[in-house]
Amino acid sequence: MPELPEVETIRAQLAPRLEGRVLARVEILDPRLTRPHDLFEVVEELEGDRVLAVERRGKYLLLRLESGLGLLVHLRMTGGFGFEPTSHERAVLELDDGTRVAYRDVRRFGTWLVLDDAELVPYLSGKNGPEPLGRRFTTGWLRAQLARRRAPLKAVLLDQRVVAGLGNIYADEALWRARIHPLRPANEVTADEARRLVRAIRAVLRLGIERQGSTLRDYARPDGEPGAMQREFRVYGREGEPCDRCGTPIAKIRAGGRGTWFCPRCQV
Ligand SMILES: [Zn+2]
Repeated sequence: MPELPEVETIRAQLAPRLEGRVLARVEILDPRLTRPHDLFEVVEELEGDRVLAVERRGKYLLLRLESGLGLLVHLRMTGGFGFEPTSHERAVLELDDGTRVAYRDVRRFGTWLVLDDAELVPYLSGKNGPEPLGRRFTTGWLRAQLARRRAPLKAVLLDQRVVAGLGNIYADEALWRARIHPLRPANEVTADEARRLVRAIRAVLRLGIERQGSTLRDYARPDGEPGAMQREFRVYGREGEPCDRCGTPIAKIRAGGRGTWFCPRCQV
């Protein structure tokens, strides 16, 4: 499932091809993509408009258009963009320079939503807490969020209103770096641990962006190439392999309904 580094990689590759270009032709092949809105209405709103910027907020991609509208794309499980024709295409954008940008989505959980200027900010800030690589994401913020909840730390970290863009993979990797057990009650995390966690979250997300995301099954960059972050995993998907820090076999449990990998010795 694409998390912040994957969405940011997609954004970075789409931006130079889309920015400044007119959406000459928009084809939406799957009515589920725009539900509850009619796909033909969405096509009509988008066609002929010019892309001013391709932005990211949490796990959302945002195409800002000249008219003031914004196309908000959430990739969910398996959504992605590509410049080459591919299987499972759900929509196609044809630009005025002839570039063809396909949206593919095997599981079909992704969504396209058109909002106007006034709706965008409240919509996005209602669903997303601070950007973890921005200045508003601080130890103080994280501690205040954790202090209010007794749920397992891992589950709280997956709440997009606590940390925007963090998902299952990068949460596990960050908890390993911070040496904190994923099932620790959130409100028992100390100030020192919260500080380590903020640093760890930033570090794994930066590394993920540098490696252009992690390719396990579905994710690929728009240029068709895989990401390389999967080679950097210390715990995710590594059940039974020795911990890089202490040699103890990595364990797998469920936390917040998700498969969770951690080192039972050095994460306490
Ligand atoms: Zn260990």
